[in-house]
Amino acid sequence: MSRSARKGSSWPPQPGPADTVLLRTSKLVKVYRADGVTVEAIRGVDIELAVGEFVAVMGPSGSGKSTLLHVLGGLEPATAGEIWLLGEQVDGLSTAGWAILRRRHVGFVFQFFNLLSNMTVADNVELPALLAGATPRQARNRREELLAELGISDKANAAPARLSGGEQQRVALARALANEPSLLLADEPTGNLDSSNTRDVLRLLRRAHADGQSILMVTHDARVASLADRVINLFDGMVADDARMVPVPRRVNGVGDILELRG
Ligand code: ADP
Repeated sequence: MSRSARKGSSWPPQPGPADTVLLRTSKLVKVYRADGVTVEAIRGVDIELAVGEFVAVMGPSGSGKSTLLHVLGGLEPATAGEIWLLGEQVDGLSTAGWAILRRRHVGFVFQFFNLLSNMTVADNVELPALLAGATPRQARNRREELLAELGISDKANAAPARLSGGEQQRVALARALANEPSLLLADEPTGNLDSSNTRDVLRLLRRAHADGQSILMVTHDARVASLADRVINLFDGMVADDARMVPVPRRVNGVGDILELRG
């Protein structure tokens, strides 16, 4: 079922008209302090994501990509700066406030899948939709659709521990998309997948994006990044560049897409 097919119902939450800003940060800073050591993981990041935009975050290991995603999803508090989501300032939210916001508006795919081990795959995927207000039938339909697209319908009744790493990763993606979140935050969603499984995940991300899903995704994989509208490169906790993907007709030079540096 597409996003538009559900218009008018209260579920899933509608993020607002396209072209409006979905997410914005201002001078975002995250400093870790442990055992007398201070690490400035994020050092004054200003980014913006429009409704429906797909942005890839790249950069060398240790440049702050995962930290940025965690702070934007409220899993770690920002040290300084502002985060605006859907027109509201959210950086000051309590843990409970963030939990409510995530339930309705943010889907998260972690590097370590965080599936609930005492529930089946089907229940893991249906739960976020149910928590966001879907009826059991809507949650089941959505789960069936997502597992089919990811080629793992036959795993619906399995316990997560019985699945391979790649299968668990796909379940985690299905779960993150189950409530059609306003924003999908994904940390290396193809990190553990072989090439055929990567294709399934890329197809689902492409379709979700075409359907209006806003996505902010950390990746090392240029194939994954090439699906994005824009690539933000982090270096040393700062935005090194922010480049829009420009489609180039294949017949001109045989190259699918090139990056054009903005500004
Ligand atoms: P990336 O995702 O780009 O590899 P990270 O966001 O994981 O980078 O890390 C950025 C920096 O913050 C690194 O120097 C890392 O060691 C440090 N860091 C990340 N998480 C923690 C933590 N929980 N405690 C202390 N330092 C951390």
